[in-house]
Amino acid sequence: KSKEQGTGSYRFYDPEMNLVTCQRLAMETHLRQALERQELSLHYQPQIDLRSGKVIGMEALLRWDSSALGSVSPAQFISLAEETGLILPIGAWVLETACKQARQWHQAGFDNLRMAVNISACQFKQPDFIERLDQVFQETGLDPEYLEVELTESIVMERSEETLMTLTDLKIRGIKLAIDDFGTGYSMLSYLKYFPIDRIKIDRSFVRDITTDSDDAAITEAIVVMAHSLKLKVVAEGVETEEQLEFLRGCGCEEVQGFYFSRPHPVDRAELFLSRHFTDKNK
Ligand code: C2E
Ligand code: MG
Ligand code: MG
Ligand code: MG
Repeated sequence: KSKEQGTGSYRFYDPEMNLVTCQRLAMETHLRQALERQELSLHYQPQIDLRSGKVIGMEALLRWDSSALGSVSPAQFISLAEETGLILPIGAWVLETACKQARQWHQAGFDNLRMAVNISACQFKQPDFIERLDQVFQETGLDPEYLEVELTESIVMERSEETLMTLTDLKIRGIKLAIDDFGTGYSMLSYLKYFPIDRIKIDRSFVRDITTDSDDAAITEAIVVMAHSLKLKVVAEGVETEEQLEFLRGCGCEEVQGFYFSRPHPVDRAELFLSRHFTDKNK
């Protein structure tokens, strides 16, 4: 077996490692061309307000249909995009496309629909991240208050000045801020107090077993109670059954997202769902 040396190079030839490296390199090569070849698209998954049972937001989820590799899941290519820096141009495209779509939906009569966009750490940490966002709002005409930025805990964990400044810049513009995959990262929760967060998204690994595993049920209930006492809203991810839904309703969770309502779908199908299940809370 090959061992990594202090220099970071591999000492022995390892066919297995070589294969993985080759596959990764091939994927990287194709991912580099994905944007210009227009192989990337966004799917949208509705977020449902539990009180009304209607859609109040959409989460934009990236899809890659590679001419060479077929469809590749985000679990495979997002981390690669992050490691190679490709997430910067790709993420910029995602933001622009999602904001443009939100604006179009608003103009089509789905007023006040929120658009949630996943943002990687390196994207968030770009010195000109805010400038780029402003540019997107200017170009698309989207009111910033309808954008929700989804960040993972790893970004807010280090309570740095830079992060606080960027989050404050988001807040000033009315942009919403959600913590994605909540509960999976760290147990240190002080960042919830330190940063201007709007919403936390309970990870679907808890939701999956809430009706069968009393620990997951207890954790979920505790997260909702804590969130509410901090005046944060809660979205539960990965709701697949009516039993899970009822449990979450009982906890006082405000919003849900999951296959029970709808999978993420391309624009047309998402819009169809929207036209059947949209509500404008402000009307
Ligand atoms: P996420 O942001 O936590 O998104 C939720 C994931 O759960 C999505 O997977 C969605 O399809 C899936 N999901 C939703 N409801 C259910 C359900 O009821 N059951 C099950 N089993 N799964 C459900 P997806 O689309 O494969 O995305 C995976 C992850 O990739 C995302 O997790 C997010 O972290 C990342 N990602 C996706 N699009 C983007 C993007 O544009 N930019 C960045 N930086 N990351 C992205
Ligand atoms: Mg997300
Ligand atoms: Mg998540
Ligand atoms: Mg995630």
